[in-house]
Amino acid sequence: KDQTAILSARNLKAWYGESQALHGIDLDIHSGETVALLGRNGAGKTTTLKSITGLMDRRSGEIKIGGKDISRLPLHHIARHGLGFVPEERGIFSGLTVQENLLLPPIVAEGGHTVEEIYALFPNLKERRHSQGTSLSGGEQQMLAIARILRTGIRILLLDEPTEGLAPVIVDRIGDVIIALRKRGITIILVEQNFRFAQRVAERYYVIEHGQVLDQFSAAELPGRQDWLSDVLGV
Ligand code: ATP
Repeated sequence: KDQTAILSARNLKAWYGESQALHGIDLDIHSGETVALLGRNGAGKTTTLKSITGLMDRRSGEIKIGGKDISRLPLHHIARHGLGFVPEERGIFSGLTVQENLLLPPIVAEGGHTVEEIYALFPNLKERRHSQGTSLSGGEQQMLAIARILRTGIRILLLDEPTEGLAPVIVDRIGDVIIALRKRGITIILVEQNFRFAQRVAERYYVIEHGQVLDQFSAAELPGRQDWLSDVLGV
């Protein structure tokens, strides 16, 4: 097994009530890489992210960060191990301003970005710093959600459908941000339905079907799998 993985999952299983959604997922994510989880609706991609972050009530298997087993840690301890999750619904506080949202999360690990660093990375958030969360566009909300997590000092960022519902020009901006984060050495795992976007940012892919890993391959291996992948994804 891969010794250099910053994040690994072994035989991850998860249930919603009696219904099993994951049937033994294995992942090995290397430090600094950007990995996309692909698969049809209902394949288990979101559940995989929720299982890694400890958001599933019923789950089994092993999850390690930097070789340390985190699978039994309470949710609020996981951020201390450098893991942050931006859910599809983004979870920003709409009644607070951009700046208030940014100042809210506690810095739980070393290396958290300062508000100044955040504004350098997201100039549009600086312009909008006194705006209420409710007045932000979908793209600005997504950027704020990512920015908030960066404040905590995470090294591994899990993003669930970051481009969902966003206009193409904003999707490009989110792509720029992800590439900038990769350059800063942040490890990124994203669930993405927008395959064109995934192709722009991802260095490696996992294809999930029926709660299992069907295949994994690098960006360089993608061209040889295009037809197969179109079949699996139904696109
Ligand atoms: P999507 O892009 O549609 O979210 P996904 O690959 O992320 O797809 P999951 O959301 O992880 O898929 O869903 C995996 C399975 O778990 C599906 O069969 C889904 O119906 C089921 N499921 C997801 N959320 C719940 C829930 N809250 N309660 C019950 N079943 C759920």
